Amino acid sequence: MDLSSRVTKLNQSKLNTKGRYVLYWMQMFKRASHNYALNFAIQMANERQLPLVVYEGLKFYYPWANDRIHTFILEGVAEKQAEFSERGVRYIFYLQRNKRDPRNTVAKLAREAALVVTDDYPCFIIPEHNQRIAELKLPVYAVDANGMVPLSALPKEEYAAYTIRPKLNRLLPDLPRTIVTPHLDVQKPTLDVECPETIVSPDNIADLVSECDIDHTVKPSNRYHGGTAAGRKRLTHFVRNILPHYDKTRNDPSVDGSSRLSPYLHFGFLSIQEVVAAVEQAKAPNTAKDAFLEEAIVRRELSFNFTRHNPDYDSLKSLPVWALKTMRDHADDPRPELLDAERIEAADTYDELWNAAQRELLSTGLLHNYMRMLWGKRVIEWQRSYEMAFELLVHLNNKYALDGRDPNSYAGILWCFGKHDRPWFEREIFGTIRYMTSRSMAKKFNARRYMGSV
Ligand SMILES: Cc1cc2nc3c(=O)[nH]c(=O)nc-3n(C[C@H](O)[C@H](O)[C@H](O)COP(=O)(O)OP(=O)(O)OC[C@H]3O[C@@H](n4cnc5c(N)ncnc54)[C@H](O)[C@@H]3O)c2cc1C
Repeated sequence: MDLSSRVTKLNQSKLNTKGRYVLYWMQMFKRASHNYALNFAIQMANERQLPLVVYEGLKFYYPWANDRIHTFILEGVAEKQAEFSERGVRYIFYLQRNKRDPRNTVAKLAREAALVVTDDYPCFIIPEHNQRIAELKLPVYAVDANGMVPLSALPKEEYAAYTIRPKLNRLLPDLPRTIVTPHLDVQKPTLDVECPETIVSPDNIADLVSECDIDHTVKPSNRYHGGTAAGRKRLTHFVRNILPHYDKTRNDPSVDGSSRLSPYLHFGFLSIQEVVAAVEQAKAPNTAKDAFLEEAIVRRELSFNFTRHNPDYDSLKSLPVWALKTMRDHADDPRPELLDAERIEAADTYDELWNAAQRELLSTGLLHNYMRMLWGKRVIEWQRSYEMAFELLVHLNNKYALDGRDPNSYAGILWCFGKHDRPWFEREIFGTIRYMTSRSMAKKFNARRYMGSV
């Protein structure tokens, strides 16, 4: 398979001809199949007749590191260990618990590698990681396994869904739905390497997490479990039982009416290709399939395109001119309903529907899409400035949501401030940015049932 549109060489260093293996640093595409980055690493290993080492590390000091995120990631480790071993790949998982544990493991592993393959992901800490690893004195390749369409196919920031949609639709018919993992020629699943390693099993996850210097106040999700197997189970359930009426239920937070696959897509436990193939092949009306593909491809790839091309993706500076202007015009409007960030975080506001949304986020680690829009919009009224509202939303979303720290996180929150949207009617505080109220929202679905369920 030609992967050239998905591969970027990050430096001009020469091959380490003494390298004993090819190293794949798995950061975001945490899966042992349906993975372009893995396929490229296997291809590189086969061309040099070398074994492959896949390294996945989890450190204690990334922003918002907490029990919920750690647990979800650890739940996907044992299955990868088994699958990689079967494929003849040496897979190493290492949990760096605190300052005293060994660090710089990737750089140390790279010393004996011929070349390095890494995940190309457009936001959060990954671009910085890749910049640092590109300084090594051996070739480093970043592979984009994010979307259906390679990020390089759209070289500029798209303005909105209506501008990206026709471009994606032109490219989609010819793009693969299945990513077959190539055979690895030199199989050494127990290859001796200089690297600390953590053995993870379902029985020791809680203990491992408790030993880490991370935020222990954010508990593991009471509903969602990490890993490709868990993601596939939910995908099968979704395709059989929810997809046939997705277009009608996706906006009803009081029922199980959407895929709830975003945490699995975020951590790369599932590839978008696998999800799209399952939906396209399902027995379901085309209206339902189209509604799902609009979200999973058009909206999702718009977010990735945004974070790839806009260096201000985590700031209000990335908003369109009309939104910036209306915010300037209304910056000094009185805010009669100001609330402390602590009360907002604790789901202790006067708005019961909003509190229910925050409770869902606090306990499950996910927030229904329809509620998420209201969740973001209301905070704009409750903070003294747009910047404070934005920062609080990013903080809460990235701290509690399993799917946080994603291109969709930044694009979704910025949408509340007008990104990828259009001007509406003028009003206080919001100016021409679209406004939503809990009262009008509550009329559109069974709000009482939703509030009782979370
Ligand atoms: C304030 C706010 C914050 C958000 N934060 C996040 C976030 O942190 N992570 C995240 O993945 N999404 C975020 N979104 C987008 C959207 O709400 C979630 O993707 C969706 O709720 C996930 O639920 P689902 O998997 O059941 O979606 P489904 O309706 O089943 O959709 C399938 C997939 O399509 C993608 N998708 C769905 N809606 C959107 C959308 N509006 N924009 C982009 N992609 C979409 C997701 O990958 C999702 O898993 C946010 C939206 C808003 C308004």
